[in-house]
Amino acid sequence: MLKPALYLAATPIGNLQDVTLRVREVLQQVSLIAAEDTRHSQIFLNSINVSGKRLISCHNYNEAERADLIATEIEKGGSVALISDAGTPLISDPGYKLVHLLCERGIEVIPLPGPCAAVTALCASGLPTDKFYFYGFLPVKDKELGEVLSSFKEAEATVIFYESPRRIVHTLQQMEKLYPQRQAVLCRELTKTFESFYRGSVADLCRQALSDENLSRGELVLLLSPAPKEKREDLPPAALSALSAMLAEGMSVKGASRVLADLLGLKGKALYQAGLALRQQQQEL
Ligand code: SAM
Repeated sequence: MLKPALYLAATPIGNLQDVTLRVREVLQQVSLIAAEDTRHSQIFLNSINVSGKRLISCHNYNEAERADLIATEIEKGGSVALISDAGTPLISDPGYKLVHLLCERGIEVIPLPGPCAAVTALCASGLPTDKFYFYGFLPVKDKELGEVLSSFKEAEATVIFYESPRRIVHTLQQMEKLYPQRQAVLCRELTKTFESFYRGSVADLCRQALSDENLSRGELVLLLSPAPKEKREDLPPAALSALSAMLAEGMSVKGASRVLADLLGLKGKALYQAGLALRQQQQEL
């Protein structure tokens, strides 16, 4: 018998086998399941042999009203699971108002971890994972989109966006105006048959998206690399050309940046950072 609480159950983001044993067990035992879309969730519940459950909807438009009903169910000794259409509830999905209200009423909330497109994409992206910022869905209106994208010009962390296939080309074009050389990764259809990762500079991805319709098909997570620590633009172009030539000749990044720092009286750290970026570019060619 489950203890009375709200269970936040993460469900698959594509591959139906990505469900934890604990989620399956809890969904089989709860007295009520609140789902973002009950018809959609029925398919998933059938796949894990959960049947005959009381199922109610809990979406953006009725969440506040449902919160009261769910709180009452738990206060009477029941146990309720919240599931969304895919992934972790509350992450760009309904549930925040409900959890907030239950916390205020002193009702226990138990998270059951599992798939989340943002974390799945981040881990396989090849971009830094030590610090990351999850933005979720970008604004649709151009002015707000521009403002949000500009705010990440100097981001010190990898930035994760959810984006719709209808808007991805436009978003990449807007990003290209701001930071064409920043590395980015577009993750498509994670855990599904056509799972794919497109890696390159924002300008590269923009070009690819314009020429290959596959890039803008299915579900997408877009990741942007952190801004370079030292801005390469601060270094004179002649220093960057010399650095690039020295690296191409086989000198180490450390050695080349030290020589140029001494010779030209420039900051060694800025040269070293630029050298690392140049070396990566040379290796990718
Ligand atoms: N709660 C979900 C989670 O934990 O990731 C996110 C729900 S949000 C309404 C849906 C968005 O998540 C999609 O538009 C897409 O950006 C991203 N997403 C979900 N599943 C995905 C998948 N299999 N591959 C790529 N992106 C996915």
